[in-house]
Formats: sequence, structure tokens, C-alpha cells
Amino acid sequence: MIEIDSMAGFCSGVNRAIRIAGKHLSGGERLKCLGELVHNEEELNRLRSLGMDFITLEDISRDWRKVFIRAHGEPPVTFEKLNTYRLEIVDATCPVVSRLQQKVGNSSREFKRRGEGQVVIFGKPGHPEIIGLMGQTSGNAVVAQHSSDFGKIAFGGPLHLFAQTTANQDDYRDFCAAVKQRSIEACGDETLVTITNSICGQVSRRAPSLLDFARMHDVIVFVSGRESSNGKYLAGLAGSVNPRTYTVSSPEEIQDWFGNAASIGISGATSTPRWLLEQVAEKIREITGNL
Ligand code: SF4
Repeated sequence: MIEIDSMAGFCSGVNRAIRIAGKHLSGGERLKCLGELVHNEEELNRLRSLGMDFITLEDISRDWRKVFIRAHGEPPVTFEKLNTYRLEIVDATCPVVSRLQQKVGNSSREFKRRGEGQVVIFGKPGHPEIIGLMGQTSGNAVVAQHSSDFGKIAFGGPLHLFAQTTANQDDYRDFCAAVKQRSIEACGDETLVTITNSICGQVSRRAPSLLDFARMHDVIVFVSGRESSNGKYLAGLAGSVNPRTYTVSSPEEIQDWFGNAASIGISGATSTPRWLLEQVAEKIREITGNL
């Protein structure tokens, strides 16, 4: 038996962005996308072949007509620049990310109005979603990931914690507990810390379901781009319960790993397209003689 993990493939935010891009690409016009739409080279090549170019804000030219904003979202300063250049904006920011941007902005404005308090965003510095979130705060927020970042946090005053939507749930829980503890040590009052669990359900549900999936099969083939941090994390998780887990980025990398395997599971990162999982399944059928 060969089974593709039903939870694998793009999240709804990325699928939506690709659908929106598809509508604008169907007219034959080239579409400029700010940054890479997904962390998957195979999918990027497919989009390039349809007419999408991946550019940076520095590349912007008045000669273009439209600029596409991917699911991660952008800070307000990006929209201002695009408006200054009079470019049409195709905004495919994931609605979940947009709502989080609003919450972060509201909290930051409220702290400013009260004259005290700090927004703390748990996430990866420099990640595009984090840049978009920080942009809502006019600079009065910090990005932190570990207790080694605590020097940036103004303990003793009100704090509002948010997480990048793709953060690891367990790590965020530990981080929040450590911040609360440090806040109690600083002023004896843990109620000063407000925690918003902003991790996307589509991300947090992946880990437990992948563990079940990896246990159910004799061999797991995990499909992911080499640079995807989510891919490395999920492949490691599958490998922790199934030692016969192999990671590939394309069907060509598959070897005959399937001796004595009665069932083979195929899964992938949140940035792995469904069509690539199907190609991998096809390749495994060829190697195994259609299990
Ligand atoms: S918030 Fe969730 S659905 Fe939206 S882009 Fe992030 S992971 Fe995908």
C-alpha cells in the first residue's frame, strides 16, 4: 500500500495565494511577486513557467503594472512604496495573518496610548511574516525566541505576547511560561503578561497527525525543499517514531528503500505541493512494481 498523508500539502493560506496568482497569470501577463511565494523550488519553477517573477522591494519599477503580495503579508511601508509607484497591488495576504497583524497593531497602539507596555512577538527574526507584524507596531515591539533574548524585554511593565503563525506550539508554551516567571520575579505580578495563542491551527495540528501517520507505515518518504525549516522539523518528527524515514526534494532522489515494506507513507512540509507528493507516489510505484 502507498498512502499520501491527507494533512500534507499547502495550507489554505498558500493555496489561496496560488489560486489568486493563477487568475492574474491566465491573461499571459508577467506578474511580479514580492519574495518567494513558497519555500519550494519545484513549485517556484512551475509558477515561473506560468509568468511569475520573484523580486525584492529594491527591484521595484514604475514600468510594472501589478505587484503580488504573498500569504506572509507585508508591513505598511511596503504598501506605501507600491502606492507611491502607482502600482496595482494584488494582495494575497492570508486572512489569518491579516487578523494577527490587526491584533498586534491594536495592542501596540493601546500601549502607546497608555504610555507603558511592550508587544513581544515569538518568532524567527527576519522571517517575512515577522517583518509584516513588526511593521504594525511602529517599532515598539521586540522579536524574541529564547531566554537569551530576555534582555530586549521590558519586564516589570505590561507585556502582550504573540507568536508567528508557523511557530512550534511546545516552544511557544515554554517561552510564555519563562516570560511569566521572569515577570513575577521582576514585579511579583503575572497578570501583567497577556498571552495570545496566534499559532495557526493548520500548523499545530500537523505534528500530532504526522506522528500517527509515521507510526502506521513501514517506510516514510518525506518530501520537502532543502531550505524549509518546517520541513526539517516535521521530517525529524517522523524519523523520531519511524527510523525508516527518508527525506527527498524530488522524485529523482528516491532510491530503493522499500525492501520488506508492506506499507509506504508519503508526507511533506507545509510548503510541499500536492502534485509533487503525487509524482513521488508514482515513482515509488515504478520502483516497487505497484505495491
Ligand atoms: S496562517 Fe496558517 S493558513 Fe495562513 S499562511 Fe500561515 S500557516 Fe498558512
